[in-house]
Amino acid sequence: MSRYQQAIVIGGSVAGLTAARMLTDHFERVTVIERDRLQDNPDYRKGVPQTRHAHLLLLRGMHNLDKMFPGLSQELADAGGVIVNVGQELIAYMRGNWLPSFTSDLNPIACSRPLLEQTIYRRLTANPQVNFIEEVEVCGLLTDEARSHATGISYRSRQAGGELQTLMADLVVDASGRTSNTPKWLEGLGYAPPAETTVNSFPGYATRIYERPANFNEHWKAAAIFPVAPHNTRGVVILPLEGNRWHVTLMGIQKDYPPTDEEGFMAFLRDLPTDKIYHILKEARPLSSIIGYRKAENRLYHYDRLPRYLERFVVLGDAVYALNPVYGQGMTVATMGSQTLADCLQAQKGNGDAAALTGLARRFQKALGKVIAGPWQMATGEDMRWPETVGGEGLDLPTRLVQKYMDKYMEAMAFNAELTAQFFTVQQMMAGPETILHPKKMWAVFTTLRQARRQAQQQSNTAGSWQQTMMPAGGGD
Ligand SMILES: Cc1cc2nc3c(=O)[nH]c(=O)nc-3n(C[C@H](O)[C@H](O)[C@H](O)COP(=O)(O)OP(=O)(O)OC[C@H]3O[C@@H](n4cnc5c(N)ncnc54)[C@H](O)[C@@H]3O)c2cc1C
Repeated sequence: MSRYQQAIVIGGSVAGLTAARMLTDHFERVTVIERDRLQDNPDYRKGVPQTRHAHLLLLRGMHNLDKMFPGLSQELADAGGVIVNVGQELIAYMRGNWLPSFTSDLNPIACSRPLLEQTIYRRLTANPQVNFIEEVEVCGLLTDEARSHATGISYRSRQAGGELQTLMADLVVDASGRTSNTPKWLEGLGYAPPAETTVNSFPGYATRIYERPANFNEHWKAAAIFPVAPHNTRGVVILPLEGNRWHVTLMGIQKDYPPTDEEGFMAFLRDLPTDKIYHILKEARPLSSIIGYRKAENRLYHYDRLPRYLERFVVLGDAVYALNPVYGQGMTVATMGSQTLADCLQAQKGNGDAAALTGLARRFQKALGKVIAGPWQMATGEDMRWPETVGGEGLDLPTRLVQKYMDKYMEAMAFNAELTAQFFTVQQMMAGPETILHPKKMWAVFTTLRQARRQAQQQSNTAGSWQQTMMPAGGGD
């Protein structure tokens, strides 16, 4: 297969790094332009402030990364990443119950974003086709005279007085995240910018890193208490980090923003529907200050519906869709987008001549639109259950019916490990949401709830509520 000459990727985070990897199959040279320093930078970066908050790469994302960079998950585990068996080593509290444990081969790896990014970065720097230009800011797109296709970018060093420089390419990829300038750049070139949909349930986060206590002897490695619409606005997630640490992120929806002061942080934890995590963390040693984050609404730019495309230019990752992170889909969908770009380049059947890339922009953005549709619906559908959510087109009848069913499904999960297992298989994106809607699952939901209610009635004269008597094996206060 003949290769094109040069591709440029704007942004060296998960979407940019994975896109760069896939582009090496089709281009002689790939240059990643990043405004932060990546080289020898094992720390949290300014350009990706969200990474200070608990970040779990779903199993589907890990599998995608392993295909792109063989052995990556092992490398992460060797570097201290923690394998978490979702069935046995995650405790999850939802709707008044700890969910039951289950036998599972769902084994995602939890580690810090800096470790993940640095490991991928090192793989790429070992590839002579890939070149990084760091600590520079991309300022605009270059085009041919007719402004029909991109020919490169202009960029400037972030040091004071840095001169404007240019770099030419056959293809430019924007992976610059939520703050992408592409809508402005397109408008400046005479193109219609993409329509934008925002769905905001006003989520907020507050995060602190703790040392995992030496005397901690419970079986779990990760924990989650989920907010539940429309009333329980609060939740928390604990993920293990390399170096025997815990990444603790409080979540509050509907402007119930978790506080970033010590006292408020602990009070928020204590007031969660169960205070189990509060009692554990009260004794644990904090290793960081508390950091807040509020800009996490769902935002979708409809690049799949542009009337006219700037050729040889594509946009992916959070620059296209930014999802409320409560489902942790962002990085995984970024890897799917990079895979889609590779598929579209393959389908383009280019001969190495840049002109053969004509049509790729439209083809790719439409294909990416299909990849995003499911995760977008999952994130926004859930957000639209909250009464104060702003944006979106409202919920149609089928969605409302599915949500009613999901309410029952989640209620039944507390008493049925198989239903819980299927839920987490879908959550890890290892199966589609339709598997939860299968008639066999529906039957299991209704028989489980009927049986639970019957038992509750039988036991109503004995001490304790029916929830307690049916308490699953997973957590337990
Ligand atoms: C609070 C929070 C928690 C999250 N938790 C999870 C989780 O648990 N699991 C998960 O999968 N996802 C999670 N996400 C989403 C995840 O962070 C993103 O989806 C993921 O980082 C992919 O984004 P990206 O690479 O497209 O953009 P980003 O990660 O935002 O990276 C954009 C990059 O572009 C660079 N850049 C920007 N502009 C320029 C420019 N002009 N010139 C040069 N470089 C530039 C930036 O420095 C940055 O490196 C979370 C998000 C938030 C907000």
